[in-house]
Amino acid sequence: MSEKILVIGELQQGVLRKVSYETIAAAKQINENVEILALVLGDGDLQQPAEEMIHYGADRVITVSHANLSNYTSEGYGQVIMEVMEDEKPSSIIMGHTSVGKDVTPKIASRLELGLISDAVAIEKEDDQVVFTRPIYSGKAFEKKVMKDDGLLFATIRPNNISALEPDASRTGDVIAKEVDVKDLRTIVKEVIRKKTEGVDLSEAKIVIAGGRGVKSTEGFNALYELADLLGGAVGASRGACDADYCDYSLQIGQTGKVVTPDLYIAVGISGAIQHMAGMSNSKVIVAINSDEEANIFKMADYGIVGDLFEVLPLLIKEIKLEGA
Ligand code: FAD
Repeated sequence: MSEKILVIGELQQGVLRKVSYETIAAAKQINENVEILALVLGDGDLQQPAEEMIHYGADRVITVSHANLSNYTSEGYGQVIMEVMEDEKPSSIIMGHTSVGKDVTPKIASRLELGLISDAVAIEKEDDQVVFTRPIYSGKAFEKKVMKDDGLLFATIRPNNISALEPDASRTGDVIAKEVDVKDLRTIVKEVIRKKTEGVDLSEAKIVIAGGRGVKSTEGFNALYELADLLGGAVGASRGACDADYCDYSLQIGQTGKVVTPDLYIAVGISGAIQHMAGMSNSKVIVAINSDEEANIFKMADYGIVGDLFEVLPLLIKEIKLEGA
């Protein structure tokens, strides 16, 4: 059987998450001369996401559709992934470091007694070894890891760090619908009641506008939403702002919140506590708006605006509107 790398295409409300495409690029960085096999799980017709995985570089796709896969459970996903691993015997498996990836991969690794490198932000080849870089100590340092030669290479990658390949709609490949009897689940998710969120998904956004306690109220966040709309970004928050009830905890960024790595992070009225930085320090460009020139956030910022956010934000919004007009 020829060597192959298995990547997992993750559906969210029927649409592939962007990190699914990034797993294909990661697989090519590990070995561009082997087959990239994608697995797409869900309930219903999975032909379209399967074809998208091919456009982004997968050579072959296995789809598994089952009523018990309509909502994620670690048991259901675990059963399918392990069955495909057993049939296909990939040399490596790559999945996104999403809430699903974080949950299911350790379960599979422990069941099959495999090593797992989680949350990789870069992959390099050194003397034929595949070296993964991953953040440690809440993003204050990085470590490089290799997997033992004799082991299957099993890793999750952090969204937004390994760029997906350019899609090519002319690419073709086999899509195989596989029957898996997903059964004996001890947990069945009956219904998912989603909190109302608007716009771009925070953890995959290219631009994040985050507000802190300095924003002072729920109404104060309206300007952040307006800026995010103008820039096509998402709104995030510090825990200070969430604790003060200015916004929902689903927006919290940091050690106990979401980890984001956008191209542009604008911190508005955020002091820059270490626990907050843990969730955004790998952003490519950081802009801070704060009235206190001694605020810690300026130590990490690429650009700093010392000023009252209630004056700076309207000016910024006005200028961007003028640019776009
Ligand atoms: P503050 O520290 O109060 O800062 C507000 C800032 O706004 C100040 O710098 C001030 O100068 C500025 N400001 C005020 N008015 C204006 C104005 N008009 N214009 C411009 N600037 C203004 N925090 C997180 O964010 N995420 C986490 O995941 C997280 N996890 C934690 C886990 C643990 C175990 C602990 C102990 C703490 C955690 N925290 C976390 C909390 C963290 O320590 C800070 O308390 C929090 O980040 C502070 O939020 P803040 O910067 O919004 O508020």
